[in-house]
Amino acid sequence: MIKRFIRRVLGLGQKGPLRLPRDRHHVTRDQLSPGARKVCEVLAAHGHAAYVVGGAVRDLLLHLPPKDFDIATDARPEQVKPLFRRALLIGRRFRIVHVMIGAETVEVSTFRAALPEAETEGAQARVQDEHGRVLRDNVFGTLEEDARRRDFTINALYFEPATEEVIDYHGGLADLKKRTMRIIGDPETRYREDPVRMLRAVRLAAKLGLSIDAATRAPVKRLAALLESVPPARLFDEMLKLLLSGHASACVRQLRDEGLHKGLLPLLDVILDQPLGERFVTLALAQTDARVLAGKPVSPAFLFAALLWHEVLSAWRAREKRGERSLIALEVAMDEVLDRQCEKLAITRKLTATMREVWAMQPRFEQRSGQRALRLLEAPRFRMGYDFLALRAASGEVPADLEAWWRAFQGADPETRQAMLLPDTGATKRRRRRRRKKPAAPAEPAA
Ligand code: ATP
Ligand code: MG
Repeated sequence: MIKRFIRRVLGLGQKGPLRLPRDRHHVTRDQLSPGARKVCEVLAAHGHAAYVVGGAVRDLLLHLPPKDFDIATDARPEQVKPLFRRALLIGRRFRIVHVMIGAETVEVSTFRAALPEAETEGAQARVQDEHGRVLRDNVFGTLEEDARRRDFTINALYFEPATEEVIDYHGGLADLKKRTMRIIGDPETRYREDPVRMLRAVRLAAKLGLSIDAATRAPVKRLAALLESVPPARLFDEMLKLLLSGHASACVRQLRDEGLHKGLLPLLDVILDQPLGERFVTLALAQTDARVLAGKPVSPAFLFAALLWHEVLSAWRAREKRGERSLIALEVAMDEVLDRQCEKLAITRKLTATMREVWAMQPRFEQRSGQRALRLLEAPRFRMGYDFLALRAASGEVPADLEAWWRAFQGADPETRQAMLLPDTGATKRRRRRRRKKPAAPAEPAA
């Protein structure tokens, strides 16, 4: 009713999108980044349609600062590229153009076509797997078709800089006003095409403080297992966005409620079932959120190390109990946990290297005597290792005085440090004696 009334007032027919002039939405071209404005101007000057679309329009309408600006155009990638001095054709799944303007990179994508029917040209360019997931897709279409291909109504709003109009095909503005996330089209079909949309729903709802519409939410639990068919590297990217969104605590809670964590961090179930593990993960996420929201840098390696720590810890303890030497047991436990994890969600090698360093440093904090403690201060990742220790202490896993000692030790001058060192413990001496005896024990292989 209201929509129809608005259409009449705006002189629109029943078909076609809402075209809202500036006084109805208050977004102005001055709010765009210089790069986004420039790209739209150049495309328009060459006779192409060009709109800002997606997260940027949504965020501006919500009075939030956009993270980046995406442009949608009717120009093909090959037509876009030569119009700019610094531009790259990228992407395999969808070909898009990255235009570099100053320090900014603006992503320019050509309108995507609606789902092609049977034997059209599109059917060859579009490949789906047996679950309905779209594997390859490079068919260009109209603005209307592009809007239908987007995930949520609030992400399918187009802003035209020249006219300052917002174009809305799917009632995204009304949904924004209701603070609702609603998927475009049939929810199940859209999740089958791309299961990552389920994660996006959770992340964006938490980030924007929106609720997920009942019909959009309904099939998620049932379809959660589809995430298993998504390449681990893509899941990693999506999970990273989620964890660094500033709303990781809320997101992880919701992922768990929806059963979505199983394909991502299957270990989360186990971890959160132990009181200590739950405390540890909750603290780590809360700390990360606080840092992100305060504009401070956070380390993804630290965060993943925290998420998986209690899994490493239990594998490590189990091996020790079976009589394996402590440090070797820890190494093997780290391998085990990372191998299992990376089958589902591929944490990059650079991150896993740092995670290992942080984990491997933890037993070294037990040594508060002699040169060892001083040497640990010099370790390249000491600060991260110490922060990790602090988290372990805060969750009650290690005594608070251990953390307090290291806090004081690192801040002390050299003389005070010397005075703080504890006398050599019996454990260290025993180990030395055993090592001296080693040649007499030929059964033990050399390290
Ligand atoms: P963010 O604030 O995290 O950048 P965003 O909505 O801008 O959120 P992007 O990943 O930058 O997310 O995507 C830009 C736009 O592309 C989205 O707003 C949406 O219109 C479309 N989009 C992104 N991912 C998908 C998807 N999996 N399925 C359909 N449309 C998508
Ligand atoms: Mg974006």
